[in-house]
Amino acid sequence: MINVEQLGWEPATVGELDHRLLKAPHVKLRSFTTGPAGDVVYAVDLRINEPNVTFLSSTEMHSYEHFLLAGFQKYLPQNFISIGLMGCQTGFYLTLFNEGNAGKICSVYENILNDILSASEVPYVNIMQCGNYKNHSLELAQQLARRVLDAKSNWRKVV
Ligand SMILES: [Zn+2]
Repeated sequence: MINVEQLGWEPATVGELDHRLLKAPHVKLRSFTTGPAGDVVYAVDLRINEPNVTFLSSTEMHSYEHFLLAGFQKYLPQNFISIGLMGCQTGFYLTLFNEGNAGKICSVYENILNDILSASEVPYVNIMQCGNYKNHSLELAQQLARRVLDAKSNWRKVV
């Protein structure tokens, strides 16, 4: 049995919430799924912008996504399943296997954002590994990382 509070999440914020109430940037457990052997898949929202206010451009989302992909694979190789874009262009979906600790996830996220700031190129930007390899900007990804890092003390304030 999973105790989300023990994992560091505010129980009232788990699940789907009224998007008009959401503050951002935030890190929020959306759901978890337990398998018959006791393994758990966690779905975490990395919300960047408040819904229905401002939207990320396709270029900044794309480069930031590449960094998140590289970073979660680097820091959580046993746990990382996937990262995906929110179609509303306000954040990202993170899926993890057997890692649902809020403090751990936030500290890895912070490491990844700091890595973005010191990076000299966006990972996987080549015609073999990306489906739109010209649509990238290191500068935009770094601006976004800076903005999200500056809001770190509010990441857990979801509503
Ligand atoms: Zn790509």
